[in-house]
Amino acid sequence: ATGRVYNFSAGPAVLPESVLLEVKEELPMYRQLGTSILEISHRSPEYTAIAESAKSLLRKLLGLDETWHVLFLQGGASLQFYQVPLNFLPPGGSADYLITGHWAKRAFQDAQLVGRVRVAASSEDRQFCAIPDPSSWDLDPQAAYLHFTSNNTIYGTQFPSEPEVSVPLVCDASSDFLSRRIDPRRYGLIYAGAQKNVGPAGVTLVLVREDFLQRRNQPLPPMLDYGVHAAKLFNTPPVFAVYIVEKVLRWLEGLGGLPAIEAINNRKAELLYRRIDQSDFYRGTAEPASRSKMNVTFRLPSETLEKQFIEEAQQAGLIGLKGHRLVGGLRASIYNACPIEAVEALISFMDYFEQRYG
Ligand code: PMP
Repeated sequence: ATGRVYNFSAGPAVLPESVLLEVKEELPMYRQLGTSILEISHRSPEYTAIAESAKSLLRKLLGLDETWHVLFLQGGASLQFYQVPLNFLPPGGSADYLITGHWAKRAFQDAQLVGRVRVAASSEDRQFCAIPDPSSWDLDPQAAYLHFTSNNTIYGTQFPSEPEVSVPLVCDASSDFLSRRIDPRRYGLIYAGAQKNVGPAGVTLVLVREDFLQRRNQPLPPMLDYGVHAAKLFNTPPVFAVYIVEKVLRWLEGLGGLPAIEAINNRKAELLYRRIDQSDFYRGTAEPASRSKMNVTFRLPSETLEKQFIEEAQQAGLIGLKGHRLVGGLRASIYNACPIEAVEALISFMDYFEQRYG
C-alpha cells in the first residue's frame, strides 16, 4: 500500500504488508462462511483449522516434535512472569534467574511472590549494557529451571546463544521469537508475547515440553494451569490475534523459515551496527558482544540532537525510533517483518543527519 512508513516500533510492531492485505481482503467474509472469522464460535471447524495450522507451522519452523504443546494464552508475557513459577517452582525448591534487563527483573520479582528464587547473574550494576559472562554465573544444579530473557528489548542486548546449563531452560523470547534457530532440546518452556515478531497484541505463545509439564505443581487454578490448556481448549482464545499469527507464520515459512530469516536479520543488524560504529557521532549503548539483532539502541551527542533526530526522521517517514522511557536515546527495532529497505533508509537518514549536525 502506498504511504506506508518505515516502522521501527518496539511493539506492537510492523507486520508483513502481505498479511495485512490478506486480512483486509477476507475480513468481512471468511471463505464461504458469509461472515467474518471474528463472528463465529472458537470451536467452529474454521477457527479450529486456523489454530491447528498455526500450531503445526510453529512446530515445523522450530523443529519441535510431538512432545511439545503449543498454547495460545492471554495476559501478555507479563502474566507468564507469575504463571511460570506458579506451575514450576516446587514447594521447598528453587529456580535460577539471569537478570539482564527490566523484563528479566520483573520475571524474577513475580517469582519471588511464589517461592524461593536465586539471582544466578545480573548486569544491573552495569545498566544492563551486556549479558553477564557465563563464567561468572552462580548456578544451582538443583534448580527447577533457569529463566532467561533471550533478548532485552529496552537495553538492546541479546544472548548470543542458549545458556549452557544442566537444568531446563525457561525463556522469555518475546522480542526475538522466531528470529533465529534455537536448540529446543535445552528448553522446558518458551513464551513470547506475539506483538513484536509474530503478530498483533492479544496472544501469548507458550511452548511447553511434555516431560517438563508433568513436573508442575497441583492443584492450580485451571486458567493458570498449563496442563489444562495443553489438554483442551479451556476457554475462548484470542481468535483475531491467532488468525493473524497463522498468516505471519505462513509468510515466514514462505520466506524459507528460520535459517532464511536469521540470515536476513544478521544482515540488517550488521549494516546498522556498522553505520553506528563508523563515527563517534552515533554511539551504541550495548557492549558489542551482547548486541541485539532485534533492538538496536544508540545515542547521539546530546539529548537535544536526539529529539531533533526523532522528529526529522518521522518527517522523513521513519517512525518509532524513540528509546524506551526508562533509558532514553534511540532504538531501532528491526524485527522479522522490518524489511532491509527500512534499514537502508534509516542508514541514509543517519548519514544525512550527521552531515548536517555533526
Ligand atoms: N518481556 C519482554 C522481553 C518484553 O519486551 C516485553 C514487552 N515490551 C514484555 C516481556 C512484556 O510483555 P507484555 O506487554 O506482553 O506483557
